[in-house]
Amino acid sequence: MDTDTDSTRRAEADAWRARDLAAVWHPCTQMKEHPGTLPLVPIRRGRGAWLEGVDGVRYLDAVSSWWTNLFGHAEPRIAEAIAAQARELEHVIYAGFSHAPGLALAEALLAKAPTGLSRVFYGDNGSAAVEIALKMSFHSHANRGEPGRTRFIALGNGYHGETLGALSMGDIPLYRRVYAPLLLEPLFAPSPDAYEAAPGEGAEACALRRADELAAIFEAHPGQVCALILEPLVQCAGGMRMHHPAYLRRAREICDAHGAHLIADEIAVGFGRTGTLFACEQAGVSPDFLCLSKGLTGGFLPMSAVLTTAAVYDAFLDDSRERAFLHSHSYTGNPLGCAAALASLAIFDSDGVLARNRGTAARMAELAAPLAAHPNVAEVRQTGMILAIELTADGPGKTPFPAADRRGLRAYRHAIERGVVLRPLGDILYWMPPYCVGEEELLHLAAVTTSAIQEATRA
Ligand SMILES: *Cc1c(COP(=O)(O)O)cnc(C)c1O
Repeated sequence: MDTDTDSTRRAEADAWRARDLAAVWHPCTQMKEHPGTLPLVPIRRGRGAWLEGVDGVRYLDAVSSWWTNLFGHAEPRIAEAIAAQARELEHVIYAGFSHAPGLALAEALLAKAPTGLSRVFYGDNGSAAVEIALKMSFHSHANRGEPGRTRFIALGNGYHGETLGALSMGDIPLYRRVYAPLLLEPLFAPSPDAYEAAPGEGAEACALRRADELAAIFEAHPGQVCALILEPLVQCAGGMRMHHPAYLRRAREICDAHGAHLIADEIAVGFGRTGTLFACEQAGVSPDFLCLSKGLTGGFLPMSAVLTTAAVYDAFLDDSRERAFLHSHSYTGNPLGCAAALASLAIFDSDGVLARNRGTAARMAELAAPLAAHPNVAEVRQTGMILAIELTADGPGKTPFPAADRRGLRAYRHAIERGVVLRPLGDILYWMPPYCVGEEELLHLAAVTTSAIQEATRA
């Protein structure tokens, strides 16, 4: 009987795959690799940290579905909040109109955000939040009589999204190079990434040296810089590269000294990923712009928010419409997204999530520690609920494997066949699980990661 059901389900999955590959263009994918190199995985449902395939196979979602999911899939309280909101008001134009979830969410975010942030502008995805912050920064300087501040400073190895402005601020060649002729040209400051520290240099010394280099870039462009944009503590798309919070403190001082804004892109690291609700807290800094998305709705709906200061907001108050921030998205302030975000924030409080995560993060560290001894592991690093394992040809020598080897892809395929979604960034494996992940699941994750590393590093 079981076998019949299994084969029926497998046939269903195969038929689905064929239909999908005939009609859909998937994101961040060389479609030519389907179905040969990469299996497409049709998913029927999600529960907790698990995804369930149409073929009945279960997959542990160790990457939180591209870093969006916080408390597990189909979390009932968030699902219910969305359903209840949908029955009352699904959407309304947000220019000239207001609604309860939009107002409550703005108040809730401001109550939890670093001090000094006192306004919320909504967007509908992370890249849009970055665009909003860039435009607001430039425009507020212009409104204050400094239209010559037209340059942004971004960090080497950074990532801020895929729309042209956001992509411009990123420094990952795979995504940027082909579009370079179309892009804005920020000044790139060297990443404070501790992996790139000089021999014998600690993370903090590296961060401070890089901050001095940042200051020199500001000094070479007096009065020209609108803002510095960075991902606090972890450059996620750049390979889960981590830096010391001292960099953020110095960056804040340098921006202040040069009259420039600090844009903290916490789209990936916000909402508890780094151990604190927002990563900036670990440096004790408040940015001028805080960009949030991904986990904002607990992983349920596309939505973003840009938090900013009274000083920025006040620069737009005027009798002229052109001095207003006329940016809009049709779905700005979508009530369903706001309801999901409110339910998600409530779970942080009711379930003591950050305290529980401290225990989970410690357990992740214990389980990953033995991997550091593998001859092809350069480093196991961790910031809160993000843990990364960097594979290299010579371990601590940090010589990368040839990119053409596609070691990470081998690890991906090995893991998916064993019911774990690892989606390495190049040769960097990482764990960024939903916060509900439990002991059994972590043991499974560690075991599969260990064998995936063996598989990926074989000759
Ligand atoms: C994912 C991401 C973005 C872009 O968000 P999208 O919703 O995918 O457009 C921007 N910045 C960072 C740091 C991200 O990780």
